Amino acid sequence: MRRPVFTGLKVPVFRRFYQKDVSVTLAGKTIVSTGPGGRSSRSGFTATVFGASGLLGTHVAHRFAEDGTITIVPYREEMKKRHLKVSGDLGVVNFLEMDLRNVESIDQAVRHSDIVVNCIGRTYETKNFSYSDVHVEGAKRIAQACANNNVSRLIHVSAFNADLESPSEFNRTKALGELVVKDIVPNATIVRPATMFGFKDNFLSRLASTASVMTVNENREVLYPTHVRDVADAIYKIAFDDSTAGELYELRSLKGYSVAECVNLVAKATHRNHPSINLPMPIAMAISKACQYLWWPTICPDELVRQTLDHVPDPLAKTFADLDMTPDALEQWTDHYLQDLRPYIYLHQGADSEKVQQKEKEYVHISY
Ligand code: NDP
Repeated sequence: MRRPVFTGLKVPVFRRFYQKDVSVTLAGKTIVSTGPGGRSSRSGFTATVFGASGLLGTHVAHRFAEDGTITIVPYREEMKKRHLKVSGDLGVVNFLEMDLRNVESIDQAVRHSDIVVNCIGRTYETKNFSYSDVHVEGAKRIAQACANNNVSRLIHVSAFNADLESPSEFNRTKALGELVVKDIVPNATIVRPATMFGFKDNFLSRLASTASVMTVNENREVLYPTHVRDVADAIYKIAFDDSTAGELYELRSLKGYSVAECVNLVAKATHRNHPSINLPMPIAMAISKACQYLWWPTICPDELVRQTLDHVPDPLAKTFADLDMTPDALEQWTDHYLQDLRPYIYLHQGADSEKVQQKEKEYVHISY
């Protein structure tokens, strides 16, 4: 039985994608669900979400947990996963310490699972993990653990523009990761999200940061920014639909935006200007390489390379439409996510700012 639940989103989300009370997974395991669907029911499935402390992983883990799917959250930092505990009913969200180099810990995390989602990824290298360590070796260990433990569904999150020939190391390792995963688990579903926006994202908040952003391409590169909630809903749908096994999905907005257009939308939403400095590539590269000696993440050399690459949709990949979904447009959400960054006078959404100023002059005696 599928029951629509109106969540405030523009489309009703069918929380209960597992359609029967008794289902048989691709691995031949019988799953029995209890309850009408929702937080206090149990779907009978167990899902492991790697990278659940991140932007996408948080939403994906939340989707599973709020539906009564036992959710295993492998983590490496205590404080980063705490918010997930309340996503589900008591006992639904279970944390497990994991290290991407420790095969035994990965094995433990997937041992009892029917669905595994790998949302681990990094846009910059650290002194402990290169792109290859995370996107190829890490993905390989997770896929191998899934194969060893007969996990019925593996959803591997890659990235748009994943290409073995790309000048960007990030894109090349993402493409190699896809190949390695498919080699070990041929029916793994590959999901390539476009640049994602949402609460505490790394896209809108970065464009809106008061510090100037260094660019090498005058913000001309074209992206297809996608709402992270849409991507999480799509992954959730894919997880319970066995016909999606082995497919490649590219989850992106319907329309492309240049970064300059995104900056304009951000400026409109925040009522502030967000200037960026355009530099020739060699100078920007030298600054970026020098910045790598700082101990906090800064713009990395590979990111500058990615700034010169448009997002080119893959014509062979399936999209939101194949999942009967229509993705949100960026302009629908910029006001919502950026309203806290407005100057005080514009915080009153929809209010006539002159009237508000007049009122404040009268009652609060603020001088402008
Ligand atoms: P985040 O950076 O928000 O989260 C990444 C997650 O991966 C975190 O949970 C992080 O753990 C974990 N992680 C990173 N490195 C390691 C490691 N060495 N060992 C263990 N865990 C690690 O990423 P997003 O949620 O934004 O992205 C999710 C996936 O989607 C990634 O694969 C990313 O490449 C891909 N993607 C993202 C896009 C975007 O716009 N955000 C665009 C295209 C693809 P911890 O919290 O402990 O650091």
